[in-house]
Amino acid sequence: MFRIGCHISASGGYEAMGRRAEALGGNTFAFFTRNPRGGAAKEIDPADAEAFLAFCRKRDIDRLVAHAPYTLNPCAAKENVREFAHTAFADDLRRMEFTPGQYYNFHPGSHVGQGIEIGIEKIAEVVNAVLFPEMTTTVLLETMAGKGSEVGGRFEELRAIIDRVTLSDKIGVCLDTCHIWDGGYDVVNDLDGVLTEFDRVVGLGRLKAVHLNNSMNDCGSHKDRHAKITEGKMPLDAIRRIITHPALEGLPFILETPNDEEGYAAEIALLKELHG
Ligand code: FE
Ligand code: FE
Ligand code: ZN
Repeated sequence: MFRIGCHISASGGYEAMGRRAEALGGNTFAFFTRNPRGGAAKEIDPADAEAFLAFCRKRDIDRLVAHAPYTLNPCAAKENVREFAHTAFADDLRRMEFTPGQYYNFHPGSHVGQGIEIGIEKIAEVVNAVLFPEMTTTVLLETMAGKGSEVGGRFEELRAIIDRVTLSDKIGVCLDTCHIWDGGYDVVNDLDGVLTEFDRVVGLGRLKAVHLNNSMNDCGSHKDRHAKITEGKMPLDAIRRIITHPALEGLPFILETPNDEEGYAAEIALLKELHG
C-alpha cells in the first residue's frame, strides 16, 4: 500500500482533518498537536475522536503522523524553554491516546552552544521523563538538516539518543528527505548507500515515517528550506526512487512542501501516478 498525504490544519478537529485529508487524495496525514509556534492545546472532544476513528476505518486511513510544535526544544539552555518542552510533550502524549497506536514526531532540538553531547543527554532525559509504559503511541525523532546547533543532523546522533531511552520500543525515527539531503546524505545519487548507512547506524526497523520534501539547496548545505516536489534540487526521478524503494515500502510519506491545499492535492496525484 502506498501511503501518501500532507500536513492538514487541525483547527476543525479530528473528523474534519480526516475528511480534508481524503478530499486532497491522501490516505495518511500529519497535523500539529498545537500551534507550531507554541502555546496551549485545545482539549480533544472524545466524540469527535470517535467519529474520526470510525471515518478512518471506512476509508483505510490508518497512519497519523502528529507533529510536535517547533518551539518544543528538550535541550534548550533556558530552563523555562525546557520546562515547556517537558509539559507540552507529556500533554501531547496523553492526548495522542485518543487516537491509539499512532506516531508523534518531534525535532530533537537545538543545543544552542552547549554542544552535541549535552544536547543528546538532555533530549534523552526529557524523552525518558514523558514516555510511559501503557502508551500506544510511538515517538519519532526527526532527522534534521544540521542547521545551526540542531541535534539529529547525523544518524549517529539519533542512535545516541535512542540508546539512552529506557522504553526502547516506544521510540523510532521519521526521515525527512529535505533535511537529510541538506545534512549531506546524497539520496539523489546514492539512495541505496544512504539507506544502508541508516540501517547500519540506526536500524531500518526504527524507521516509521518519511517527510517527503524537495530542497531549495544543495546536498550538504545545512539550510533546511523545503521546495515543492517538482521545483527543488532533487530531480523527479530521484523522488520516484525514494517512494518506490523497497526499504521504505508501506511507510507513510508526508508532504511538508510549500503549498496551499490545491498544490498539495496536485502533488499527491502526481506522486500516486509516479508510484504506480
Ligand atoms: Fe518537522
Ligand atoms: Fe520534516
Ligand atoms: Zn525542514
